[in-house]
Amino acid sequence: KLDERARRSEAMGRGDTSELRRCSRGAYLEMRAKKKVEELRDDIIEEEAMFADARRTDAEERELKRKKEIYGLVHGSASQDDGAGDYYRMPDAYDDAANVDQGKRFSVARRRHDDGGEARGSKGRPFSEQESWEDQQIRRSQLEFGAKDRGHAGGEYEFVFDDAVEFVKATAMAGTEPEDETDELGDEIDAKAMMQRELEDQRKTLPVYKFKDELLKAIAEHQIIIVVGETGSGKTTQIPQYLHEAGYTANGRKIACTQPRRVAAMSVVARVAQEMGVKLGHEVGYSIRFEDCTSEKTAVKYMTDGMLLREFLGEPDLASYGVVIVDEAHERSVSTDILLGLVKDVARFRPDLKLLLSSATLNADKFSDFFDMAPVFKIPGRRYKVDIHYTVAPEADYVDAAVATVLQLHVTQPPGDILLFLTGQEEIETTVEEILRRRTRGLGTKIAELVICPIYANLPTELQAKIFEPAPPGARKVVLATNIAETSLTIDGISYVVDPGFCKVKSYSPRTDAESLLVRPISKASADQRAGRSGRTGPGKCFRLFTEHSYRQDMADDTVPEIQRSNLASVVLSLKALGINDMVSFDFVDPPASEGLLRALEDLFALGALNSRGELTKTGRRMAELPLDPMLAKAIVASERYGCSEEVVTIASMLSAGNAVFYRPKDRALVADAARQVFSAGGSAGDHAALLNVYTEWEQSGHSAQWCADHFVQPRTMRRARDVREQLEALLERVEIERRSCSGGDLDAVRKAITAGFFRNTAQRRRDRLYRTLKTWRTVFVHPSSGMARLDPPPRWVVYHELVETSNEYTRQVTEIKPEWLLEVAPHYYQENN
Ligand code: ADP
Ligand code: MG
Repeated sequence: KLDERARRSEAMGRGDTSELRRCSRGAYLEMRAKKKVEELRDDIIEEEAMFADARRTDAEERELKRKKEIYGLVHGSASQDDGAGDYYRMPDAYDDAANVDQGKRFSVARRRHDDGGEARGSKGRPFSEQESWEDQQIRRSQLEFGAKDRGHAGGEYEFVFDDAVEFVKATAMAGTEPEDETDELGDEIDAKAMMQRELEDQRKTLPVYKFKDELLKAIAEHQIIIVVGETGSGKTTQIPQYLHEAGYTANGRKIACTQPRRVAAMSVVARVAQEMGVKLGHEVGYSIRFEDCTSEKTAVKYMTDGMLLREFLGEPDLASYGVVIVDEAHERSVSTDILLGLVKDVARFRPDLKLLLSSATLNADKFSDFFDMAPVFKIPGRRYKVDIHYTVAPEADYVDAAVATVLQLHVTQPPGDILLFLTGQEEIETTVEEILRRRTRGLGTKIAELVICPIYANLPTELQAKIFEPAPPGARKVVLATNIAETSLTIDGISYVVDPGFCKVKSYSPRTDAESLLVRPISKASADQRAGRSGRTGPGKCFRLFTEHSYRQDMADDTVPEIQRSNLASVVLSLKALGINDMVSFDFVDPPASEGLLRALEDLFALGALNSRGELTKTGRRMAELPLDPMLAKAIVASERYGCSEEVVTIASMLSAGNAVFYRPKDRALVADAARQVFSAGGSAGDHAALLNVYTEWEQSGHSAQWCADHFVQPRTMRRARDVREQLEALLERVEIERRSCSGGDLDAVRKAITAGFFRNTAQRRRDRLYRTLKTWRTVFVHPSSGMARLDPPPRWVVYHELVETSNEYTRQVTEIKPEWLLEVAPHYYQENN
């Protein structure tokens, strides 16, 4: 009993709900366990039936295998050649943790391993640590009992099994009868109340809490305030709640809190709903593109800055909001910058509107100047000392260096989590694998467990929450994050930061007229922000994988605001729709280059969105209503003329749902390719028609998962496309575009509508069968993923959705057109040229 109480309060201290539940009475636990196992079994049966043959993606295959293993493990039916209890146990001792070189410079000690040899499990089969990691992740998310258990049947892998007794106990109990329901309910309420109290206490420990009254007073006295505070001081999660509690929403007006990043908006709002003890979407909700999770009740609304920008279109005075918080203003995204100009204006004629800008960096003066010397409210930071270490010499391969550093820190440094900054999803995924691959090699089993948590924009929501969970006792967590962890998300418990000094930035090249994401060195300001992440809960250390010289000499002081390096067509269209005609005198914090503005105006004119006086046309007004790139928006608007709005909206939804429509299992690549070619009639119908066909057939199948499996189509992408489509349909009504379908599948009508939006993306085949773009006169290739890539002969004229730049420039999503269409769809653009 006593023991249980101790564990319970310890779990409370950590805010660990699953542990709390585990500590609750046996019956409840056991019933849950039983239920989980049943669910798992149903899952397996269902999935096996659904994918009767081998048509699963590798990931699905692995997941199913894992589920079976877990199921087998719980039921003791899995084959255990080593006999029960023969689990491998890793000692969690650190190798002489205290004896660490604390010098300011460090060199990365690299272990080079040849492939083969050591990395074998005890049975001689190379064991995949990726698998073991996934196993662990899945277990953590699927099995709430014994979540810490890491056991494995079959003896093929090495596992830590640090909680075997408890796990076995849960299994053993699965057979007996559950107690009556009231008991379970009681437990649930009990645990919930405890969690709530615990959260309440946690809120009080945040730095902003001490200044709550002062802050509220300042807000009451001033209309505009700039709030500056270290990341993690509670700006994003607390301030909206304070305002809500203080009655700012009592008049029925909402609080808006904008975020430059979707993931940040979703993650933060989940936390706030939890803290307020309400269901997400009720009092607290969020709104991001194509996803609205708010209701009538919503008083506190987290949203991307782009979404608030869109709301201006329908409500130029933001009448439904009493407070607007532009969070992460220092990020200076295009939308944030535009918002700042707009809200400044609104604040002038709406004295009742409160405006807060929050920023994690201390150079808030710029914002203060911009808002006519608005007061700056500083939340004193709670940052501990951070030791900065540089590499002695430049690192040639920063991923390699990062992996080595993480492992080196793991074996030599005292407890504390590690945060590694990388540039994107792909890089994060390969790094995860690399860390896992090298972890036990050479280091053997003498090291503590390393829990690896990736976080990037497209990570499924269920897994995003993982980064906030504390590592199990004795283990160390390493978070592999994109820039998102620089200021948007605060992860507690980080003591070590590894910073390669790069990030992916959007850049627009007027030369190719293409926007691309390029890996670039970060600024000094970013590097310092990143370093600061290690000193939140105690003294920290930051390991920079670049030299001190390059920090001082090569890095820019600040990041260039996005508005100065983007294609502005979409922004200019929104502003025009808001009645802001004079771009040059718009109140920008930092004005974009005038040639960028000019180019955007030209583009919009060519699309027919602006007339020759630069005023918004009817077409332009309709385009502005659609939350899409102006070219795609134009294609939809044009579809009305060709009587094919249904088809074009479908294609637009598919294009917006992401690139991963098809999958291509390695062992069945040819079958998959063939299946895919059918959708574009062997390539000749074009990629846009292929997307249309995929969607139509999927719908006809009743959105069947089996159909997806049969045709190598990703169900997730399809579901997303359906969501997008529903929203676009609703918008069609608003802009009064009749929903019509071109009867008999007159694909030329569809192609013309697409061309009406993308006529600037046209290319002509040369004699050597490569294409030359009409606009920029560049040589481009058809992307190998295109159905068109194998046509012989390739069509003479094509329109493409986008250019991607890798080793070459590739056109993606390509469709054949007739050159005379160009004159028809864009006379003002092509007339002169002809
Ligand atoms: P700031 O905006 O000042 O950077 P936040 O309000 O985002 O600070 O964070 C305050 C605290 O809330 C931090 O300790 C952070 O770890 C915690 N927190 C924020 N989001 C979540 C979440 N989704 N899950 C758990 N904790 C969270
Ligand atoms: Mg924040």
